[in-house]
Amino acid sequence: MTGPSHFESFESYIPVDLRSPEALLAAAGVVLFFVLFRYFLMVAPFWWAFYRRGVAPSRRIYARLPGRAEQLFEIKWSLVSGLVFAVFGVGLGVLWQLGWTRIYLRFDEFGWFYFFVIGPVLLLVLHDTYFYWTHRWLHLPSVYRRFHRVHHESLHPSPWASFSFHPVESAINAAAIPLIVLILPLHPVHILVHLTLMTVSAITNHLGFEVLPRSAAVHGWGNWVISGLHHAQHHRFFRWNYGLFFSVWDRMMKTEHPSFWAEFTQKLNSKTNVS
Ligand SMILES: [Zn+2]
Ligand SMILES: [Zn+2]
Repeated sequence: MTGPSHFESFESYIPVDLRSPEALLAAAGVVLFFVLFRYFLMVAPFWWAFYRRGVAPSRRIYARLPGRAEQLFEIKWSLVSGLVFAVFGVGLGVLWQLGWTRIYLRFDEFGWFYFFVIGPVLLLVLHDTYFYWTHRWLHLPSVYRRFHRVHHESLHPSPWASFSFHPVESAINAAAIPLIVLILPLHPVHILVHLTLMTVSAITNHLGFEVLPRSAAVHGWGNWVISGLHHAQHHRFFRWNYGLFFSVWDRMMKTEHPSFWAEFTQKLNSKTNVS
């Protein structure tokens, strides 16, 4: 019988004892580095391709791409968010070490169907639900003024806006995964893959270009999956399109912009820019 594989031991993910203050501080520094490194590493290729190389001009959503000052504003707030995310990342590690989470280590502990299908799908659904309702709350006028205005300063966001939040909003977003693993059994690999997917989604939602393939319009699945145009309408019109991954909640609660589908299909079929 062989021992646990590399991804099946606690030390593979957290090689230190987070109960010691020095280790906690060092871990926070490492997590902060990875959060920011990942932000720049993942946003930069999109920015370079769409903003510098000018690929897919017919997919551009705004008449004018955000300028340097707007992009720097978004980067500044994203750096602040990195700090908050690092604190919550380490906090999740502490909860895990204390045994308060339902994180499991053996891949097949709940069966392979759970590992490949049920776990990831439930994580997406719970996170999407959490995001939709906390986002609705952030749009209550008094809450909006204090905590959500920073994100909406970007009327036409760039991909750098992916993490551009007020620290309180960052904390609300960062609390999602730690709260979910209190109730849902997840493997650390689920969390790592989900965080990557979430970052890609945050980037494409703020890219200023619609990146879904034409089949999304032809076969109708673009009606369920959120991408650039859907979230661009949220920044343009404020009171519509609150979702993160899927538009199910927006459609159920009648908060999807009435012109979404018409604009979306027009965009995917158009050969020219739309203002
Ligand atoms: Zn909003
Ligand atoms: Zn946004």
